[in-house]
Amino acid sequence: MARYDYDLFTIGAGSGGVRASRVSAGLGARVAIAEERYLGGTCVNVGCIPKKLLVYASHYTEDFEDARAYGWTVGKSSFDWATLIRNKDREIARLNEVYRKLLDQSGVKRIEGRARIVDQNTVAIGDRTFSAKNILIATGSWPSVPEIPGIEHAITSNEAFHLKQLPRRVIVVGGGYIAVEFASIFHGLGAETTELYRGPLFLRGFDHDVRQVMAEEMRKKEIDLRFDLNIESIEQADDHLLATLSDGSKLEADQIMYATGRLPATSDLGLEEAGVELNQKGAVVVDEFSRSTVANIWAIGDVTDRINLTPVAIHEGMALAETLFHDRPTKPDHENVASAVFSQPQIGAVGLNETKARERYTELEIFRTRFRPLKHTLTGQDETTMMKLIVDRASGRVVGAHMVGPEAGEIIQGIAIAIKCRATKAEFDATIGLHPTSAEEFVTMRESVVN
Ligand code: FAD
Repeated sequence: MARYDYDLFTIGAGSGGVRASRVSAGLGARVAIAEERYLGGTCVNVGCIPKKLLVYASHYTEDFEDARAYGWTVGKSSFDWATLIRNKDREIARLNEVYRKLLDQSGVKRIEGRARIVDQNTVAIGDRTFSAKNILIATGSWPSVPEIPGIEHAITSNEAFHLKQLPRRVIVVGGGYIAVEFASIFHGLGAETTELYRGPLFLRGFDHDVRQVMAEEMRKKEIDLRFDLNIESIEQADDHLLATLSDGSKLEADQIMYATGRLPATSDLGLEEAGVELNQKGAVVVDEFSRSTVANIWAIGDVTDRINLTPVAIHEGMALAETLFHDRPTKPDHENVASAVFSQPQIGAVGLNETKARERYTELEIFRTRFRPLKHTLTGQDETTMMKLIVDRASGRVVGAHMVGPEAGEIIQGIAIAIKCRATKAEFDATIGLHPTSAEEFVTMRESVVN
């Protein structure tokens, strides 16, 4: 008889937990996974996927306008929020089912309910307990909102996906990528949109040129972007909300959405009692192999607050399965992870921003270009595209690539391969451009602007 019910007990069936469990089961481990809310986790249910569907919806306004310059007469258009949400929900339900089948077919035992660690080898769900040789914490993260008077009237991204109707006026609070994406979504769908950020410039962590250009481009589209400003209190007026801002002014809205960060989901999990150390933010402290301070308890994904993206959680999950059940200790690789902001226009980035590159390398060459994309020569839209390469002069290697413009995410994914392969600027230059594209600018920039 086996000493434990399972070789691996995973808490949380999101991006990381599902992948770690499936791969481990494929390697012969006896695996169970507990999920309290929805299969697929944040990304599938209230994150990447529904967000990108809303992003697609939000682009049609400009597409209809642009079409005219290309000779099209577009009939009277109108937008129905309920149809979008219904269709989005149908797709999410399909994906939940795909996840259920994937787990079942790989032999992972699914258990519904909220799991809690009882001791180093025991997990409880309601009044049932399960013993496990290894426990994996993959519980993700949860939106965090400030405690200001009237905060109960505000929503987070979780609720934004299920609103009954599109707000006529919306305030988005926050300066991270989720705030910027939702400001673009609401604006694109026709809501009067204000984005407030308490600091001097949003999108902290992105390259400073990207942040500046993005602010300019959003303002051109008439998104009311206000920095160094916050909400002090929210009141419910007759049929709207009234926000009092930190400069004393008032702002009316029909919805106020907070995207002011997310915290690791570690409360009431029994972690401290089991001896699992958490950092100041509440994230599980792990070593390079995703091992917590308790030898057989592991953690991956947002709950560890390393790089909070789905492909990273998946990668950490696969590395862990290799470590535990393939006799091949594998450290997840967090270098040069590409990221995108699906705003209007989009942002794509990989490698170091200029500030970080200056800390690491003594001499840099910076290549930058800003232009109006070919498509807009006819439409008359004044949206511009910006691209930037950061090169370490000593080795000639491209150490950062950044873009603001249409399809930046798609373009940067390709550039990320080159950067992962440690490509030099000379190799970028030796690559013949694909004409006419915006992406070709990445291989045709010759004059450095700073060195
Ligand atoms: P999650 O996917 O959050 O899964 C954790 C699961 O654990 C959840 O299903 C939860 O219900 C469950 N759980 C928690 N506690 C318990 C418990 N005690 N018992 C049982 N179950 C429990 N990333 C990208 O790469 N690209 C994007 O475009 C992108 N867009 C995003 C947009 C939004 C609005 C948000 C909020 C996030 C976005 N992300 C995006 C981030 C991405 O969703 C997360 O990085 C990813 O989901 C993390 O995966 P995870 O496995 O760590 O946790």
